[in-house]
Amino acid sequence: VKENGKTGFQRYTAEMNDKVIQTLIMEEWLNRALEEQQFLLHYQPQIEVGKSRITGMEALLRWNHPNLGLIPPGDFIPLAEETGLIISIGEWVLRTACMQNMAWQQAGYAPVKVAVNISPIQFHQSSFVDIVLDALKESGLDPQYLELEITEGIAMYHVEQVIIKLQTLRNHGVQISIDDFGTGYSSLTYLKKFPIHKLKIAQEFVRDLTFDPDDAAIVQAIIAMAHSLKLGVIAEGVETQEQLEFLMDLQCKEIQGYIFSRPVPSHDLIKLLELLPSA
Ligand code: C2E
Ligand code: CA
Ligand code: CA
Repeated sequence: VKENGKTGFQRYTAEMNDKVIQTLIMEEWLNRALEEQQFLLHYQPQIEVGKSRITGMEALLRWNHPNLGLIPPGDFIPLAEETGLIISIGEWVLRTACMQNMAWQQAGYAPVKVAVNISPIQFHQSSFVDIVLDALKESGLDPQYLELEITEGIAMYHVEQVIIKLQTLRNHGVQISIDDFGTGYSSLTYLKKFPIHKLKIAQEFVRDLTFDPDDAAIVQAIIAMAHSLKLGVIAEGVETQEQLEFLMDLQCKEIQGYIFSRPVPSHDLIKLLELLPSA
């Protein structure tokens, strides 16, 4: 028994060490990624289906590591949040997305919104509103062409502060949407309190929409609620024609998903901008 206990303990620490070392290495790499310009943004178009036009594009972060290649955000954003690095990374994302969108406009494409994902940690920092306004000023982008995607989790702390920040951004003309709507912790009263423009129906409800009656009911309820609260609504993760038709029947007119395009590098998005009319 004693021996088993001892081995168990040794194995535990060894695994723990591995994990700690891995995390330390990742953290060290992540620390250098910004200054070594290893981050880039891909963009995924958001389409108004009836009119076949692009209304916006979501900026999605990628980390191009010299040895590991392209790392998806799910693999490093949690660590960036734990270490606080998300604050400087998030600021880079905001500035880059605003500048890119302005560059498209200056190249003569009809203006569309760029949607930027905001981590709750980033949102809760006291200078957040100023950082957003600086990114707009620096790029010269009109605030109506910037949309911030926040999550319901933001409402877990400092609700009064959150409302003030959202109101200030809104007063400046910045658009706000709630990402992954329905998967978080927020109560419906926040929908009334929060000055937001749009709900994004989470991919997890869209996935089985056409054969899971529960998901269909949830999606239907979110769309109806958005309409009666006079909010915009967009479904993400739309992959099939069946899902698309189902959503259109429910009067959800804005769609994002592989059915139209995967997230693509900025030079590929230009081809889409040339193909489709925009808002
Ligand atoms: P999200 O904001 O919900 O972004 C949508 C994710 O779904 C993206 O994954 C996108 O590539 C993927 N997607 C889009 N259409 C489809 C589809 O039709 N089918 C399927 N199966 N997937 C689809 P991605 O790019 O790996 O991003 C994952 C998450 O990482 C994002 O989820 C977002 O929460 C976070 N993220 C991405 N960029 C940033 C960023 O700049 N800042 C912060 N804080 N988070 C980010
Ligand atoms: Ca998002
Ligand atoms: Ca989402």
